[in-house]
Amino acid sequence: MNQNKPIILLIYTGGTIGMIKNPVTASLEAFNFDHLLKNIPELKILDCEIQTISFNEPIDSSNMHPKYWVQMVEIIEQYYQNYDGFVILHGSDTMSYSASALSFMLENLQKPVIFTGSQLPIGDLRTDAKENLITSIQMASLRNGKDPMIKEVGLYFEYKLYRGNRTTKINADHFEAFESLNYPMLAESGVHLKVNKEYLFQPENKDLVVHKNFNTNVAIIKLFPGISEYSLSCFLNNPSIKGIILETYGAGNATTESWFVDLLVKAINSGVHMINVTQCSGGSVAMGQYATSETLRKIGLISGFDITTEAAITKLMFLLGKNFDSKEFKTNFETSLRGEMS
Ligand code: ASP
Repeated sequence: MNQNKPIILLIYTGGTIGMIKNPVTASLEAFNFDHLLKNIPELKILDCEIQTISFNEPIDSSNMHPKYWVQMVEIIEQYYQNYDGFVILHGSDTMSYSASALSFMLENLQKPVIFTGSQLPIGDLRTDAKENLITSIQMASLRNGKDPMIKEVGLYFEYKLYRGNRTTKINADHFEAFESLNYPMLAESGVHLKVNKEYLFQPENKDLVVHKNFNTNVAIIKLFPGISEYSLSCFLNNPSIKGIILETYGAGNATTESWFVDLLVKAINSGVHMINVTQCSGGSVAMGQYATSETLRKIGLISGFDITTEAAITKLMFLLGKNFDSKEFKTNFETSLRGEMS
């Protein structure tokens, strides 16, 4: 670690922040990362040293896949000792999924990994990219004595730093594109950077452990009034599905119709891990609070408490990659591993 200025590694994966309009098709396409840096000469006056690395082929984050999460953590793993912090430039569309996935993959993380991106390309006159990028780098450079101040995966957007695995993209147009409804922001950028130290994750002081296995034989099912036995059984009777995030109503409630309960029991008995997550943007599952969720508790659904769907699906793929038996799986899912649940 540099004793004077922090050294930050900027990892460019793609997204609007580094895109440019194709003059022929008028659609946004990724462009060379060097252009991105040329567009922000301000980076040179920051009180840290910045080095960069880019995906060979930057992607729109709608093409995100666990193989790219592995690519990101392998960069962090390779350069972990050489840098004080990491800033990942990423499309906003799936940023909350990636931030959640990386939080699970990087156990005992002792350095900041900050995701950021933008709603408008860096070259646009009214771009939000500059502020997001510059302040993310400043957040990643913050220190507590000799130690990095932030020791977790964060997501910085429009003046706010959130815990990454607590975020959801809530707006496709506004600069304020993310929310963290169940956990307070970690820091805010105003005239000064205000860090809410009491909310920062405190990892155990152990060596970094990197996890790279995901099992993608999973599904997210959102309940709606009128959901049919036929459509639900397509998922629940499918032997390749190993885990399901069931997005239920309110505090974890679902229909008590017998065909529905029978389908769930059959799937759970055949070894499918089924997680109860609320489809509300904020608040928590509390199975048993209503009669309409008591059945779900009795038949063995796992509670996602106040986890986001993004964190739930990545946690599901991550834990399935560990081949736990069903009891271990349930205990691990219902335990907050990286501050993703209250
Ligand atoms: N489609 C873009 C992406 O997620 C949007 C963005 O960068 O914000 O890659």
